[in-house]
Amino acid sequence: MQTLSREDQLVLDQLPAVMVPPTSVLPRLDKNGQRLLMARDGTYLEVRRDWLYAVRRCATFREGLQVPYGRILETIELAGRTVPRDLIEAFIAEARFVSPLEIGAVVTYDFESSEWALRMNRSVSATASALSYEIVPLGRAERRVVDIHSHGESAAFVSEKDRKDTAGATAVVIVVGQLDRDTPDVKAYLYLHGMCMPLPWNECKETSDCGDEDTNGRIEVGLDQQ
Ligand SMILES: [Zn+2]
Repeated sequence: MQTLSREDQLVLDQLPAVMVPPTSVLPRLDKNGQRLLMARDGTYLEVRRDWLYAVRRCATFREGLQVPYGRILETIELAGRTVPRDLIEAFIAEARFVSPLEIGAVVTYDFESSEWALRMNRSVSATASALSYEIVPLGRAERRVVDIHSHGESAAFVSEKDRKDTAGATAVVIVVGQLDRDTPDVKAYLYLHGMCMPLPWNECKETSDCGDEDTNGRIEVGLDQQ
């Protein structure tokens, strides 16, 4: 019988794969972590954190392949409902003040008090093209939900360095640029275990416009537009 090494077992336990049963209900992941779910129409990524529960398809099967698995619904549920827009606006105001230098912050959600907070990172060295900083210490039930940083007067995009910083991350990532203009460039993404999905920002003015209704009728995680 083949036995796994302890190292392999630890590595594989970080992302186990589970088959969705054809008729029984598959219980949700009951602790923080992630799994791959093999379903009838492809493979889904299931991610659980104190502040998030998400299921999103990450791969499809080739046409015609017969699999015995059941269906699974896509969902994205944020414990704090929507990220408050006023905290993002507060960050943009700070970023404008120091532009063209870059700054960063985190937006946190306390799952006991249900409160959101903006916490500016302590810059260790900030230049117009690079940023290193210390992450502020968080409270016991406070979770880092949004990573936000500025690009000064440059466009907002996910740079090569940003890509390295977000490798394997589960977070909302927001980049703010063109701070010398009246309307800054804002790009927002939801990362699920490194899988990146764009979130709307500039296009929508109302909460109901923000996020697409998916095939299961659930509204995607949005940013509070009030
Ligand atoms: Zn960047």
